[in-house]
Amino acid sequence: MSHAVAALIPDDGPPTILAGCLVRAMHKFIIMGAQGCGKGTQAKLLKQDFDLVHISVGDIFRWHIQSHTKLAARIKRLIAAGHMVDDDVVADIVQQRLAEHDWNYGFILDGFPRTRTQAEFFLESYDIDAVIFIDVADEIVFERVLARRMCGQCGLDFNLIHHRPAEPDKCDVCGGTLVARDDDNPDAIRARLSDYRNKTEPILELFRRKELVIQTDGSQSAAVIQADIRRQLKLPVDTAAEPKQVEG
Ligand SMILES: [Zn+2]
Repeated sequence: MSHAVAALIPDDGPPTILAGCLVRAMHKFIIMGAQGCGKGTQAKLLKQDFDLVHISVGDIFRWHIQSHTKLAARIKRLIAAGHMVDDDVVADIVQQRLAEHDWNYGFILDGFPRTRTQAEFFLESYDIDAVIFIDVADEIVFERVLARRMCGQCGLDFNLIHHRPAEPDKCDVCGGTLVARDDDNPDAIRARLSDYRNKTEPILELFRRKELVIQTDGSQSAAVIQADIRRQLKLPVDTAAEPKQVEG
């Protein structure tokens, strides 16, 4: 970023909105919702169009596991039992990631903060523009998460509801066998949901008091959810994610 542009985009100040100016606004979002609410998909759609860095704690964990880091064994054990990874580990991982400062136009944070202390600290350190909350009922969580499959060979994600393979249990791309993730079993889902409802959801109240939360109904299609989020955030809606409007 040039110095002139950098001067217009304060690191910690409010988003710079200059009408008619080419300078792109900075967006800092947190996305929240239970497993299976579709926040990964929504974050990716926002990331694409607004040049955000998608910081997903789950993806960072998976990277550690695939790379067999020191942290991996601990993470693996907790996740398989359906538990959350220790708060201090998560906080460290997120701080390290944000400190890389590769987010010129902002970020969308997924999977953090998870406790009140983290949330308070985070709000002091980063000026968050909005918290996007995707609301889903427990029945939908079970239905969606139990339908998730992954190719054991190439790692591609499938979903027996929305993204069915052409041949049952076989990867469309490499022909590998589709498997469920270890942590996508009913007991682990139940444990994660209870952790989420008891520890994470109360943080929403804190964000609500600061008038940061926009809420959307996660039972809708991905395109409808994305359009709703953008409307509420007053972001341009006119992209591929928006269902085409029929005139007349
Ligand atoms: Zn495959």
